[in-house]
Amino acid sequence: MDNYIFGTGQFAIEVKKILEKFGFQIKGFLKLDNVKKNQLNSSNNSIPIYYADKIDLSKCNIIIAKKPMIMGDTIGFLKEKNCQNVYSVSEDILFVDHFENEDISKFFRKIDFEKPFLNYLEMNVVDQCNLNCKGCAHFSNICDNNWVSIDKFKRDLILVNEKFDLYYFRLLGGEPLLHPKLAELIRISHEVLKETKIVIVTNGLLISKLDEKTLQTIADNNVLISISLYEPTNAVLDEISFILKKYNIKFIINDDFFSQNNVIDKFQTRLSTERVNDGEFVSKNCIGRFCRFLRDGKISKCYYPLLIDILNKKYKTNYAVTDDDFIDIASVENGWQLIEKLNKKIPFCDYCSSEVYEFNWEAHHKNDNEIDGYIVRKR
Ligand code: SF4
Ligand code: SF4
Repeated sequence: MDNYIFGTGQFAIEVKKILEKFGFQIKGFLKLDNVKKNQLNSSNNSIPIYYADKIDLSKCNIIIAKKPMIMGDTIGFLKEKNCQNVYSVSEDILFVDHFENEDISKFFRKIDFEKPFLNYLEMNVVDQCNLNCKGCAHFSNICDNNWVSIDKFKRDLILVNEKFDLYYFRLLGGEPLLHPKLAELIRISHEVLKETKIVIVTNGLLISKLDEKTLQTIADNNVLISISLYEPTNAVLDEISFILKKYNIKFIINDDFFSQNNVIDKFQTRLSTERVNDGEFVSKNCIGRFCRFLRDGKISKCYYPLLIDILNKKYKTNYAVTDDDFIDIASVENGWQLIEKLNKKIPFCDYCSSEVYEFNWEAHHKNDNEIDGYIVRKR
């Protein structure tokens, strides 16, 4: 049976190299026809790249080597094509130094299309933050203090698990390390979502304050730490790295396994004040479209519909959220239909502009009186 790797990025190249070490022949890389850029550079392009809809994949092994956040379209495509032998590959494979004694099969998981496969979900476990960046996309510098209770957290994860096979779950905020029961959240995540990769997204500044039990729980549950590299974090990165390595905790910087440690110095928004935009077009191109967001028993295509009440409360704005902007998980009968809905435009997308407003990153903007940073400014 022919083996293909779905993906054309650095991860796909690394997976190909590893599989070839184990004697697997890879026939080619695959991409969707809406992927315009060929990201493979020529020195690595020793096998062809095919448009996936141009070949018969029904009798092939297909390994999806893409970032979990962006693999949703691929899953939908392969389901539509009735492909049976589809595998995900865990990014954990990138942390292996040498494979001599490794069972490589543990990094691959066959996707069972019987249960709706939800590639990605994120959740604020704490709303507030210790850094308070200007224009924080999750409104963490202007919100009231709030963290999810253990009961609600568990209830929501059980609901998600009943309806979906969730692949990747990110705990974030605000600053998730501010949660008083972080170790318990991790334990519950692992207990309920047994096969799901758990990731904590943090500015990292509180890692040196975590107690031994929490650090050990992170390590024991194979949680990945994704550090957002702001200037204050960069200043203590050696210390953070020392602690995480001491506990054998895997970590990445800025959600990227391959890039240099670039400090984040720009933020951007595309939120405008009126519903004046072509949401259909914008939602196909905005980066937020992948950020499927879980809050209080509901899932939305991105964080805006489920967090916008914070902005409305603070600045007396009138952003409206409709029932079509989110899905109540308990009401879901067919998980695949929900996933399809999440892939499409939601009414709230009309608030987002095709023009992106970029501004310099700044911290310590707790309770800003100006809405500046959240909405697109007329130039
Ligand atoms: S570090 Fe900044 S961007 Fe991240 S949650 Fe905190 S305030 Fe928001
Ligand atoms: S509301 Fe739509 S267009 Fe705006 S960030 Fe979310 S997904 Fe993108």
